[in-house]
Amino acid sequence: MMKTTTTRPAAVAPSLPGGGDGVSRGLGAVVDEACRAVVRSEEAPPDGSGAVAPADCASLAETLPSSPVGEGAAARADRGGPGGRREERAPDGRAVGAPSCATAPPVAGLTGMSTCDWPGHLAATVFLQGCPWNCTYCHNRDLIDPRAPGVLEWSDVLAFLGRRRGLLDGLVFSGGEPTRTAALPEAISDVRALGLAVGLHTSGAFPSRLAQVLGDLRWVGLDIKALPEDYQAVVGRPGAGERAWRSLGLVLESGVDYEVRTTIHPGSAATDRLGEIVARLLAAGVRTFALQQAREIGTREGFRADEPGWDDRFRALAAEVDTLGFDRFEARPAR
Ligand code: SF4
Repeated sequence: MMKTTTTRPAAVAPSLPGGGDGVSRGLGAVVDEACRAVVRSEEAPPDGSGAVAPADCASLAETLPSSPVGEGAAARADRGGPGGRREERAPDGRAVGAPSCATAPPVAGLTGMSTCDWPGHLAATVFLQGCPWNCTYCHNRDLIDPRAPGVLEWSDVLAFLGRRRGLLDGLVFSGGEPTRTAALPEAISDVRALGLAVGLHTSGAFPSRLAQVLGDLRWVGLDIKALPEDYQAVVGRPGAGERAWRSLGLVLESGVDYEVRTTIHPGSAATDRLGEIVARLLAAGVRTFALQQAREIGTREGFRADEPGWDDRFRALAAEVDTLGFDRFEARPAR
């Protein structure tokens, strides 16, 4: 997935072209005592690292003394923490703002409000730790390691969202690769219980897991990074292209609103074969497409996102794509 840089432990990372406020680590954690069951994945990550280790909610049931967003005891009480219990209930009977599952998603960051992460919507964005791929142009390298712990408690993300109800259209799950997390379906359910719509940024690395949650999503931002045969050169993993393009088919079949995005940089396979990619997307039925210009910040050492004349070439490519018949097309330059 293609986003601007995230530097842990600061927990803010909007998508291209960036924006939004943020919340830092250290929010107090309040976890529903009922959350003790373990959720496991049926689809092992292709990186061989195993499913996300399920967390024991009991170990998360701590309340930290202070919050960097000024949340005090009264606010913690408002969401059912020590000192008080909230009365509001979700349709399934659990307290609004309380997580529904034992496996807390590993939250690496939270953007409190963004107009960019879900086009046309005012949304918060939560960044989940872990990605099976290692893209040449990844801006969020700190979010790749699946063993790194989250920096925010999921219950505090829900509490934050609860306070923003009426201000936000929804929440976007981003990453990393959010479908890597076995807890994603339950986390989506938690957010929907707050009355918020849910969007998803995904690379399509886990088509089976994507299929599992598509029915609960209002919008998907899907990265198509290259033609299937070129994927390994981009993401560094075999079999990735088949997964991503299978995910594309699932998104299109589902009828969910979506945007397909392709990111290019000088000399990349996607740049060299952009015409073929676009033709194949159109043939598959893609109607909404964005062309993104890779940026250098946060990427691996030696990666170059620029060369003389590159901005002009990007604009020319975007202008060409704009003539090809997508219903909605957006060019996202790096500068
Ligand atoms: S390595 Fe993962 S998080 Fe980074 S751009 Fe690729 S798919 Fe996205």
